[in-house]
Formats: sequence, C-alpha cells, structure tokens
Amino acid sequence: MIACREILKKLLSISVLVGVIQSPALATEITPDVALARLKAGNKRYVQGKSAQLRIDALRRAETAQNGQKPIATVLGCSDARVPVELIFDQGFADVFVIRVAGNVCGTAELASAEYGCKYLNTPLLVVLGHSSCGAVDGAVSGGQLRGSIPQLIEMIQPAVDKARKEHGKASKEVLLNAAIQENVFNTMSCLLKKGPGLAALVKEGKLKVVGAVRNLHSGEITWLGTHPQQDKFIR
Ligand SMILES: [Zn+2]
Repeated sequence: MIACREILKKLLSISVLVGVIQSPALATEITPDVALARLKAGNKRYVQGKSAQLRIDALRRAETAQNGQKPIATVLGCSDARVPVELIFDQGFADVFVIRVAGNVCGTAELASAEYGCKYLNTPLLVVLGHSSCGAVDGAVSGGQLRGSIPQLIEMIQPAVDKARKEHGKASKEVLLNAAIQENVFNTMSCLLKKGPGLAALVKEGKLKVVGAVRNLHSGEITWLGTHPQQDKFIR
C-alpha cells in the first residue's frame, strides 16, 4: 500500500512537470496560428465531452498567482451565461484573456481591454465570439420598448441588423437573426481594427490575428469566420 502511494506520488510529480512543460508557456513564443489551433482543438474536446480541465487546480492557481498571466488569446464574447469562454475552449486559469459584454459589442472599455490583452499581455490572437440565439442581437432585430441603458447597447448592434435586413429582408426571422449575429461579429472586428491603431499595427506586423467566430448553443461547436473580409483596408 505504501509502495503504491509512493508510485502514485511519483507519477503525480511527473505529470505536474509535464503539465508545466506543456503549458501554453509564454504567449510571445507562439504564433497566431498555433494559438488558433489550440482553441480549435479545445473546442473539439469540449464538444466531444472530452474536456481535459487539468489547468484549474490549486497548483495552476498558485503558479499563475506567483508568475502572472500569459494567456494565448484575447476573446471578446457575449455575457450570455451559456457561453463561458474558458469552458467552451477547454482552457484553464490564465490561458485566455476574456472580455464579456452583452452582444459582444465594441465600446471604449472593450477596445481598451482588447488593447491590453494584445499589446501588453502579448496574446497573438484576438477572437470576437458571437453565438446563436443572442438575446442582445435579437433585441435589436425585434425592436420594441426597452428601458434603462439597454437602448444604448441596442444602438451599437443596430447597424448589423440593418445590413442583415437589407441582404435578407424577406427571409425568416431565424435567418435574419443569424445573419445579424454574424454581421455584428464583423462590425466589432472592424471597430477593434479601425479604432485601435495599436491592434491594426500588430496585425500588419504579423504578430496578431483577429478572427471572428460564432458558437452554436445547441451543438457547442464554433463556426470560424476567419479574418474580416475588408481587413486589408483597416490595417493600411
Ligand atoms: Zn448574446
């Protein structure tokens, strides 16, 4: 029994070492494509019910508290409780710098947070993450009386809805909503690149990739939208 415990202890210490060696390491050491591949692989594990969840334990907590955060990606996603970013990408503590706001819009605070993640924490990847059945985008599609500060949020989403309506005017509500969700992701991407000259410069230097994505609430899968179709115009 004692021998078994010793073997177990040794195995644990080896796995800890391996975990440290295989950790995302310094964000500056990985390319945008490697970071993207890690998120894609993480989502695949999550969808298949094979999440590793190894990097949320006390050891990882202590490691990150002492050594700081070195995330591999910055993700700007929606506040919707069904889209917990770290879980859907199967990432642990300090692996992803997450910005969440209803409708994944791009206001001053979101832009500044994205700049912090990409410029100061050196994440080589910035993902704008929308999701199906987004209530904030649905609010803009449906219209109606909204109170408090919510109309100001809806205003930020409205251009995406207007464009979707122009292109899919006679389509069903579902098609219109999905088109608006995708367009809203692209609008946030263009806002980040146009209003964040530091981000555009990083993209131009090849140090940063900005990609869009939409998560399906039913399957959990991510549809990757790639870079903004007009990115070249924004980074000149
Ligand atoms: Zn949402």
